[in-house]
Amino acid sequence: MRFKKALSLLGILYSSYLFIGWGYVGHQIINRNSTLSFPPEMAYFLGWADSLAAHGSDADYRGSTDPTEAHKHYIDIDNYPEFVATGRIPQDYEKLVAIHGDSFVSVQGILPWAILATMDSLQAAFSSQRWQRAMLFAADLGHYVGDGHMPLHITRNYNGQYSGQYGIHSRYETGMLNRYSHQISYGGSSIDYVTVSADFVFGFLYENYVFVDSVLQADNAATAIAGNTEDDAYYAALWDESRGFTARLLENASNRIAALIYASWINAGSPIPGIGNIVNASLNLNRGWNMVSFNVIPVDLNVDVVMQPVVDKLVIMKNGDGQAYIPQYGINVIGQIDIEEGYQMYLTDQAALPVTGFEAAPGTTIDLSRGWSLIGYPLDQSMDIRKVLEGIWDKIGLIKNGMGQVVIPAYDIMQFTQMVPGQAYQLYLTEAAILIFP
Ligand SMILES: [Zn+2]
Repeated sequence: MRFKKALSLLGILYSSYLFIGWGYVGHQIINRNSTLSFPPEMAYFLGWADSLAAHGSDADYRGSTDPTEAHKHYIDIDNYPEFVATGRIPQDYEKLVAIHGDSFVSVQGILPWAILATMDSLQAAFSSQRWQRAMLFAADLGHYVGDGHMPLHITRNYNGQYSGQYGIHSRYETGMLNRYSHQISYGGSSIDYVTVSADFVFGFLYENYVFVDSVLQADNAATAIAGNTEDDAYYAALWDESRGFTARLLENASNRIAALIYASWINAGSPIPGIGNIVNASLNLNRGWNMVSFNVIPVDLNVDVVMQPVVDKLVIMKNGDGQAYIPQYGINVIGQIDIEEGYQMYLTDQAALPVTGFEAAPGTTIDLSRGWSLIGYPLDQSMDIRKVLEGIWDKIGLIKNGMGQVVIPAYDIMQFTQMVPGQAYQLYLTEAAILIFP
């Protein structure tokens, strides 16, 4: 996404434009296809395909609430005199800031360093075996790498404003791809371990910069053929002119995402979920609303797979963020089961849900923000709530179980005292805190 101020033709009015690299569809394709290139030893993570696709544009959506997000999605690299002169810029962020100043570097966009920072986060999540978190960082990584393969995200002429091709950004990434992305097929290819470095990231940015001109030329050709930049004839011609390199860019993006995820996984020591015994558990679900959590990590994390045994009775399932799984309508925003989270489920009849998976590691940790959270209970036995929540007790405003019973520490109100496997809890915190389960 780009959120920038562009000078109007009159030269006096400023307006804001919103650009989403590759659009929602493009980022979905890129992220999903990255799993096609996962090496055999990462077979477990093939199950991430749907989730990586579903979360492919999370980074764009964050832009509406996080003012630091927008400039992570692009770099106007040709605004650097070094690039114009040599086709390269100093790749070290501090060095670049020393030369050009903080504000100039920030305004040009910080895409390459956002990729490197996300790699660090991904590797840390792998190291601490926090799988859901790792998947979300991998999805963000895929997004930023995808943006780095969208030529108009690496140039000052990002919307054709300097070449009389105003509006090319969304024509190319959204208008065209929404019409023709179904024609792109890609089977994955083998990847090697890569050294994660600024060289690697800038390497593909320099390579992809060449296609800025290709996009602009395709637009000119299509405009000449169609006589406009709007109708089907224009988009057919734009696709015709650009499909070769566009398919290649998408494919390269997917490959590089796979290589980077693989590298961070190797660097983290190649952890695989569930080193330990497989456990069979069963979740008893009532007719109507339930507030539940999982205390084994399902072998296959996909919600579709986990909920399959009760799918004929399940109307809706929601997590604490309000993301839903509605099987009858094929809606699955949840993607994967996370033992840290609680879920609300509505069933037309009672049912027992068998779950096969791995025991949660001791010390499972949840980052909680201020306000409401719906948390899971990943332990396999009941425990006193004061013991489980000891470390965050003074920050708890209120906690409520699925029966509507509450605990309010400040008033010594204890309508329940045990936390129970399979249940979930609504928790109100007066400030952010980290919950570490015993
Ligand atoms: Zn973006």
